[in-house]
Amino acid sequence: MAQDTTKFETVMYELKPRPAVVKSIEDLSPKYRRIVLTGEGLSDFNSVSPSDHIKLMIEVDGEAIRRDYTPRTWANGDLTLEFALHADGPLTSWARNAEPGSTVTVLGPRGSVIVKPVFDAVVLVGDDTFLPTAGRALSEFSDQLPMTVIVEVDSAAEEIGLPEGENITVIWAHRGDRLPGEALVEALAGVELPEGEVLYYAGGEATAMRDVRRALLARGVDRANLKLSGHWKRGESDFDHHAEIEE
Ligand SMILES: Cc1cc2nc3c(=O)[nH]c(=O)nc-3n(C[C@H](O)[C@H](O)[C@H](O)COP(=O)(O)OP(=O)(O)OC[C@H]3O[C@@H](n4cnc5c(N)ncnc54)[C@H](O)[C@@H]3O)c2cc1C
Repeated sequence: MAQDTTKFETVMYELKPRPAVVKSIEDLSPKYRRIVLTGEGLSDFNSVSPSDHIKLMIEVDGEAIRRDYTPRTWANGDLTLEFALHADGPLTSWARNAEPGSTVTVLGPRGSVIVKPVFDAVVLVGDDTFLPTAGRALSEFSDQLPMTVIVEVDSAAEEIGLPEGENITVIWAHRGDRLPGEALVEALAGVELPEGEVLYYAGGEATAMRDVRRALLARGVDRANLKLSGHWKRGESDFDHHAEIEE
């Protein structure tokens, strides 16, 4: 569906691989790790929107591996990324084993979608892989409009610190032994949705995103204000987030 240019603007950049080095590592919870990248190669990096993503590139047994990640912050030559350490995949293994001095290549962002100041409120819905987007959106926009975040993590031990403020509501859902997204959709059902022109932005497991969309459309949300990103898919390695999410 074409993007409504009164609400969103897309800016494209030259797609460039940039070598980077791990500067520091911090575990924010048992399964959630913040890694700061730095290095000369990043000198002309830029990221302007919480929905931006880059590809991290590594080589494993001679094979080039690329996976999508979200710039949490970009400041003073430091690119901060955050990793949900759930996947049993090569990029998550890289993040688990990274040390200061480890190297990686950053590709992109290819472009940014900039949200125009036409919304009355924002609702962010997702899983741990969406926390960098949610955290960044709260940091950059919660002084301008009310924001609600509904996020699914394994358990209370996986709740990380997010920005706080009078415009911010954060609701945590705990996955436990359930399939990804079940607790998220359940939590969403109990949330009172804001009035007015509301932007809904969701990211997480692809089938869960289908269910989030169904739940929101059933509650009368305008499809044009609903942005969904399938960040990964159960049982599928290297899921292509450009794939259509099932209706
Ligand atoms: C636009 C975009 C932005 C993203 N931003 C981030 C980010 O900032 N931080 C982040 O952590 N992730 C982010 N992701 C998700 C990340 O790219 C995927 O989780 C990716 O599959 C991890 O790569 P991998 O090599 O570890 O696993 P893969 O080789 O891709 O997959 C291996 C196995 O792990 C499973 N798997 C993958 N991800 C998960 C998961 N989260 N939980 C449980 N099982 C999983 C797969 O289904 C597969 O069975 C983003 C994705 C997109 C599309």
